[in-house]
Amino acid sequence: MTETVIEVAGLQKRYGDFTAVDGISFEVRKGEVFALLGTNGAGKTTTIEILEGYLKPSGGIAKVFGHDPADRGPLRSRIGLVLQESGLFGDLTAAETVTAWRRFTTNARSVDEALELVGLSDQARTRVKQMSGGERRKLDIALATLGRPKLLFLDEPTTGLDPEARRRIRDLVTDLSDHGTTVLLTTHYLEEAQELASRVAIMDKGRVVVHGTMAEVLGRGTGRVAFELPEGVTTEDLEIGGPDVLTVTGRRCLIATAEPETAAHTVLGWAARRGVRVTGLDVRQATLEEIFLDVAETRGQEVRA
Ligand code: ATP
Repeated sequence: MTETVIEVAGLQKRYGDFTAVDGISFEVRKGEVFALLGTNGAGKTTTIEILEGYLKPSGGIAKVFGHDPADRGPLRSRIGLVLQESGLFGDLTAAETVTAWRRFTTNARSVDEALELVGLSDQARTRVKQMSGGERRKLDIALATLGRPKLLFLDEPTTGLDPEARRRIRDLVTDLSDHGTTVLLTTHYLEEAQELASRVAIMDKGRVVVHGTMAEVLGRGTGRVAFELPEGVTTEDLEIGGPDVLTVTGRRCLIATAEPETAAHTVLGWAARRGVRVTGLDVRQATLEEIFLDVAETRGQEVRA
């Protein structure tokens, strides 16, 4: 069985009368990228800060590598953090910052490698206070990954980064994950989460409302198959039915379906039997963004994918 790296069960956090985290449960297993997503104020950062050992829960269980997260001793060398707000020293250069960090990091990368990995080699001699917001973010990530951590917390790591820098950070996360690092990611870039994460939990108002593998979660939404109706045929024997819905506009056909691959198979089989060629075929699953918007709109009860 795959090792559980993070265990959260019935976790609660109250601030006075306000319940920010309301009895959530999920597990993160070794080597996976787990996306903790949610609406603004849903409780993601609170949850992450409990797991990082910065906040005490009001109830329930939070464990990291089987330890109480507040028990920093056994965890420190295994964990890398990228917080929403970073605490860098403005007068140090990027290279000096990494050099200083290396002194208390076990198994640290070289300064050059650390900066290269996040695309900061050209800014090695730039002082932190002169760096752009995106460059500082890259430096945060260089520091968090300096010791090749076993578990990496990434709280909105790519906010403020340009598309090329986001691409680079995505590649870095994929590479770390391929080498066995477990990643807990929060982000408002849902495309990024969809690309990187193998499992996902979506929070709303302190609760986990959607939870499952990425495939399970995407399977909850409505995908589509679109194609051009060939000349001389009609859709009458197309065998689209059940929950699938076919709409025809001119010659453009659109099937709304939870199982786009199956529907595409049906369309292609139908075309082959008719001896006609289907053009403009476009098969698309629901996106994580659509699932997320659905959550934000319905604000429903807890559903497990
Ligand atoms: P965002 O996507 O906006 O960053 P989030 O999901 O990370 O949101 P949290 O920062 O965890 O949300 O906050 C959850 C809720 O708890 C919010 O309503 C926030 O206002 C509230 N909250 C956070 N910290 C405190 C605090 N120290 N005292 C009172 N309320 C707090």
